[in-house]
Amino acid sequence: MLAALFYGPMDVRLEECPIPQPGHGELLVKVAVATTCGTDVKTFRRGHPLLFHHVPAGFGHEVAGIVAAIDKNVRQFREGDAVVVANSAPCQHCFYCRHGRYSLCENLLFLNGAYAEYLLVPEPIVRQNLYILPSNTSFVAAALTEPLACAFHGIEASDIKPGDTVAILGAGPLGLLLAATAKLRGARVMITGRGTQRLAVARHFRADVVIDVSGLSSQEQVEAVRNKTEKQ
Ligand SMILES: [Zn+2]
Ligand SMILES: [Zn+2]
Repeated sequence: MLAALFYGPMDVRLEECPIPQPGHGELLVKVAVATTCGTDVKTFRRGHPLLFHHVPAGFGHEVAGIVAAIDKNVRQFREGDAVVVANSAPCQHCFYCRHGRYSLCENLLFLNGAYAEYLLVPEPIVRQNLYILPSNTSFVAAALTEPLACAFHGIEASDIKPGDTVAILGAGPLGLLLAATAKLRGARVMITGRGTQRLAVARHFRADVVIDVSGLSSQEQVEAVRNKTEKQ
């Protein structure tokens, strides 16, 4: 199979590799869609202290696809299932896991290798963080599950209530997902950003106020937001 391997900052190589075979509790996904996260871009530019234990390593972590092979001990999935693969799994044993704070797990397992024809999913992720897609969900939409989960986490942590006014600074992918999820919470959403395409997506997500900040200084951006609020 072809795989894009990370060798170091600014050094990713497309190489022919053997297709991995599932070991105990593992399964193999034929990649349908892999998206590129801000973390991937930063890692490509300057490396990452935690993602890789050795190089060359598989790269990319937002992925949806079809189960292509499966270990006989895995019962909850079948070959041919359309799935989305989360990029991590907690250990369930450390202090933070025992307190339900899985994102702080001291032994968090990271999965990279989505930029390949096939991805071997390790047992802890198969057991905890692999999901079958509803039949009407596209692979493109499903591949955004991880950033969407980050947006939901942020919205939940900020305790937004119906009728609250929420200002989102930046209409990049996460800003747009935050706008969509804040709307689902019943908030009045204003979003600032640049670029007609992104601002059009913000309107598509029913943002109430879309502020184009092209050419505005930081102070002018603050004023633009204040002018659309009750100035509290
Ligand atoms: Zn990501
Ligand atoms: Zn843990």
